[in-house]
Amino acid sequence: MGAHCGTDQAAAPAGAQPRRGPARGTRRQRRALLAAGGSCLLAGIGYLAVVDPHDPAAVMPLCPVRAVTGLDCPACGGLRLTHDLLRGLPAAAARDNLFLLVCAPLLVGLALRQARAFERGGRAPVPRRLAYGLAAAALLWTVVRNLPWWPLRPASG
Ligand SMILES: [Zn+2]
Repeated sequence: MGAHCGTDQAAAPAGAQPRRGPARGTRRQRRALLAAGGSCLLAGIGYLAVVDPHDPAAVMPLCPVRAVTGLDCPACGGLRLTHDLLRGLPAAAARDNLFLLVCAPLLVGLALRQARAFERGGRAPVPRRLAYGLAAAALLWTVVRNLPWWPLRPASG
């Protein structure tokens, strides 16, 4: 009576919270999904290695922020940043998106932590204060980087 299956809790990494209810799919299926996602990410990075998002003629997805507001958005700056980092140009990457460059180690760490938890059937939610702090900082960054006097501008585009 009152038996409780704790397999999710036993499999979750330190700091991760078990998923409510049964984990979706088998561990093998979750690993395959992570491999597929990682492959897509690597394909995108490979594309950015050879295609310059600074070039207006480059084939890139339409940016809804730019299309609606005409402003530079952090995501597009992230594409330019990635391209410049892959080309070994850290100063150009800082001009593209200084905020993302500074936050990149934290964001990569959070993504790896989530992937590890997902692989084990759990989840690793971002602490609430960190999530709200990052969202507020990204919003502030979006405003500041579009001010006319802001000195860091992408080389083009
Ligand atoms: Zn954009």
